[in-house]
Amino acid sequence: MNFKSSRIEALEVLEHYIEKDISIYTAQRNFDLGPQSRKNISCLSPYITHRLISEYEVAKKVLSKYPYQKVEKFIQEIFWRVYWKGWLELRPKVWTDFVEDLKNIDKSNEYEKAINGETNIDCFNDWIKELKENNYLHNHTRMWFASIWIFTLKLPWQKGAEFFLRELYDGDAASNTLSWRWVAGIQTKGKNYIAQNWNINKFTNNKYKDLKLNENPLPIIDQREYKISPINIENNETKSDILVFFENELDFQSFKVASYKKIYCILLTNEERQVELGDKVLMYKKNLIKNQVQNSDLKIDFIEAKKFIELLNNEKNFDVIYPSVGENMSFLKRVIKKKNLMINYLARDEDKYCWQFSNKGYFNFKSNIPKILSQFKLN
Ligand SMILES: Cc1cc2nc3c(=O)[nH]c(=O)nc-3n(C[C@H](O)[C@H](O)[C@H](O)COP(=O)(O)OP(=O)(O)OC[C@H]3O[C@@H](n4cnc5c(N)ncnc54)[C@H](O)[C@@H]3O)c2cc1C
Repeated sequence: MNFKSSRIEALEVLEHYIEKDISIYTAQRNFDLGPQSRKNISCLSPYITHRLISEYEVAKKVLSKYPYQKVEKFIQEIFWRVYWKGWLELRPKVWTDFVEDLKNIDKSNEYEKAINGETNIDCFNDWIKELKENNYLHNHTRMWFASIWIFTLKLPWQKGAEFFLRELYDGDAASNTLSWRWVAGIQTKGKNYIAQNWNINKFTNNKYKDLKLNENPLPIIDQREYKISPINIENNETKSDILVFFENELDFQSFKVASYKKIYCILLTNEERQVELGDKVLMYKKNLIKNQVQNSDLKIDFIEAKKFIELLNNEKNFDVIYPSVGENMSFLKRVIKKKNLMINYLARDEDKYCWQFSNKGYFNFKSNIPKILSQFKLN
């Protein structure tokens, strides 16, 4: 698989997908026929995760060509991501608890065997290899992978979620953590996702015979309850003459950026991260930023977090494109406290509007999609 690293190319992939392949999505999206046969899905996630193109932009482009009924499933999947993001925004402690949990889990021999693809489950070993080679897995395979990790290999879900974040080009705090919780049976309490031999074979065209999987596991139990905390992003008015954004909000041009004296794009290195990323993933992020900076008419300084911290000796006021709950936000929170910063967040109106519907389950969120589409004239 060949993931692109500029907005222009990502838009071309999107255009091509809309023109040529989207029509088979509903019927065929669940099949994983290998990295060379991906026409049945969009493979847009690395671009959307870095907001090289936004979910709303994708929805608008799709709906400018097709009526909603024809592409409903695809639009709903796009909004799964928005839903997960909102869900985590409303319950940020789920992320900080995940990070804290990781500190208390040791790497066992079984874990090492699993991440090196040395288990006695063929499909799992193949997926490990595929993930490391392509930094991507099909959605259905991610579900099977996570289920086998948790219920057959009996490894902690948190270590699996950490491993995915390290290897995936589309690694995202919300979609990843909450999907792993969902497979485990914690997100929807008591309902775990069980990978089954027949299902894997049906959707891989009988690639794996006689898999010995634990097909009757009980869900994982986690007693922690998370109350909703209100999202506090005040307004979108410019307050500082310095703008900062991170690598997961790369389409900064969709904000009013022309009047800033200085613009910085920050990439955290593994030193500042609580969940370390693989070299290929960090390199991919670097390339995305470099291309965005190069292709912009504005002067943008691409700096690593250390350099940003140095700046904080002289500057205390920043406008920051809201990076959402996750690694970048945790970093910001730490420096805000330490360096007494005044941060003014700029968030997208679409995000703020949509996230209010993440207070309950996806079924409820989904029923608001038509309202969202018309509120922002996406259809
Ligand atoms: C255990 C597990 C971990 C995951 N971790 C991530 C992650 O770190 N980052 C990530 O972006 N997605 C994650 N997903 C969701 C999903 O697998 C990927 O978004 C999808 O496989 C990306 O491929 P695609 O772009 O071809 O998707 P398509 O099927 O073409 O869908 C289009 C877009 O909709 C969104 N989308 C589709 N399905 C989902 C979903 N189930 N949840 C959230 N968004 C979705 C993505 O932005 C995707 O690019 C995870 C799923 C599981 C089961």
